[in-house]
Amino acid sequence: MTPPTPAFRGNKAALPSKPCAACGRPMTWRRRWARSWNAVKFCSAACRRAKGARG
Ligand SMILES: [Zn+2]
Repeated sequence: MTPPTPAFRGNKAALPSKPCAACGRPMTWRRRWARSWNAVKFCSAACRRAKGARG
């Protein structure tokens, strides 16, 4: 039995997620990040630039 979760229709495999280091928005695991999920810190190239402008 699982509690009702209105926000989630259908229980897709629970994907990992973590906040973007730049904007703080939660980013959900993406297939393209399968290899580098642990290294991913930003949700987008824009955020990456915002934080790592010098990198
Ligand atoms: Zn971001």
